[in-house]
Amino acid sequence: MHPIATSIFLGLTAAAANVFGGAIIVQRHWERRYLRYFVALGAGFMLATALVEMVPESLELRGRSAAFLILLGYLVIHFFEHTVTPHFHFGEETHQDEFVHAHNGYSILLGLVIHTFFDGIAIASGFLVSNALGWLIFFAVFLHKIPEGFTVSSVMLVSGRSRRIAWGASVILGGATLAGVLTMALFRHHVGAGLPLSAGVTIYVAASDLVPEVNKEPGARMALLVFVGAGCVFLLDSLFHLS
Ligand SMILES: [Zn+2]
Ligand SMILES: [Zn+2]
Repeated sequence: MHPIATSIFLGLTAAAANVFGGAIIVQRHWERRYLRYFVALGAGFMLATALVEMVPESLELRGRSAAFLILLGYLVIHFFEHTVTPHFHFGEETHQDEFVHAHNGYSILLGLVIHTFFDGIAIASGFLVSNALGWLIFFAVFLHKIPEGFTVSSVMLVSGRSRRIAWGASVILGGATLAGVLTMALFRHHVGAGLPLSAGVTIYVAASDLVPEVNKEPGARMALLVFVGAGCVFLLDSLFHLS
């Protein structure tokens, strides 16, 4: 399949996972404890994919200046997720008193829209470089997509929005992911910028959004899953290179 067609198909799959994550929170009776495992596995998988695959590939594509773009990607997400937003963390939002101003919910939605846009950029950039890189990045993105949709919908509910708007917010994140894929498809000659920028975003999401959530869990089991997630990258990488 053509790399752009594959990216669009997998971008849709990732978007659907956002929407599914939103549905879990809107359907109150659905089981949601297993989501923690996605967060822990996703943290390790994303960190390894970014550092071992995306960073070296970015440096190869555009030389030392890729390093600056990686830092820029990291800082952009730090700005929109944690600087302009007063209170944000991954996972179910339960701190009602942090959301007395309803607009706080929308500033978090904005931060997550920018982050998910780069999820899409990451997938398409990966496939523009190679099939193996594209699939690894897709898995890395997919693993945190359900918790992502779940997070935005719970934020919306806590800030006083209806269940329909809460679910709609997860649909918007799915749309932003797809927009990222399509943007990279249009500007495919700029993959040398798309890959390092989205590598920085991926490092941020893994190390600064997901790992802190893992560390809130008591006991070592969740922490160990991060190693499993990272190990899966090496396993898949060797499989891809065998084929
Ligand atoms: Zn909170
Ligand atoms: Zn994401």
